Amino acid sequence: MFRRSFWVSAVLVFMVSISLAFASEQKGDEAFGKLMDGNKRFVSGSLAQKDVGNSRRKELLKGQSPFAIVVTCSDSRLSPEIIFDQGLGDIFVIRTAGNLLDPIALGSIEYAAEHLHSPLLLILGHEQCGAVTAAMDAKGKPEGNIGAIVRKIMPAVKAAKTKGGTKDDIFNNAIKENVSVQEKYIMSKSPVLKHLIEKGELKVVAAVYHLGSGEVEILGKGSSAPAHMHHH
Ligand SMILES: [Zn+2]
Repeated sequence: MFRRSFWVSAVLVFMVSISLAFASEQKGDEAFGKLMDGNKRFVSGSLAQKDVGNSRRKELLKGQSPFAIVVTCSDSRLSPEIIFDQGLGDIFVIRTAGNLLDPIALGSIEYAAEHLHSPLLLILGHEQCGAVTAAMDAKGKPEGNIGAIVRKIMPAVKAAKTKGGTKDDIFNNAIKENVSVQEKYIMSKSPVLKHLIEKGELKVVAAVYHLGSGEVEILGKGSSAPAHMHHH
């Protein structure tokens, strides 16, 4: 009798935890879909009507619950709210030249994921990134604090050079490598985020933005990547 009820409850606990994990993974997938739908609207030029007025500001005084965290470059040509067609309170953004992460940036992501419960983290590099160019062309000591940026991009440039190809190939691969270096940095330097990712409470997607077309290209295994996007 005891044994039987033990197994029944063990199975129930197991099923409940599976469905909870499924529900949180679903939130990440939904957020990803919402972001990509916004990008499709931006690409096609038919933007959604967004409430960025007084009533929305008042509503947001109660608090924020952004559905996505976006890490991207400071480059003025790819403001996340614009390229994903989103409004106030929708996305939590971390921007540095070269979409690089340091402890402060990691802490910002942790805050959004753990305290605001954002279910999605997008790491977005971009075509023609000047920070990556600076690391590709680096000779001698760069001026001021730009050296810190160049040094942090160097491993990605080295990895791209090892792969070889034309100068354009190396440049484009360095941009992609840099995104995956940041992803690995998160896993190795933030136990908080690693835990949320492993529990399925935070979905991580790596991508590259194309300046000309306005399209966001999903890198790697992005399961819900739109069919028209290129895979590598
Ligand atoms: Zn850039």
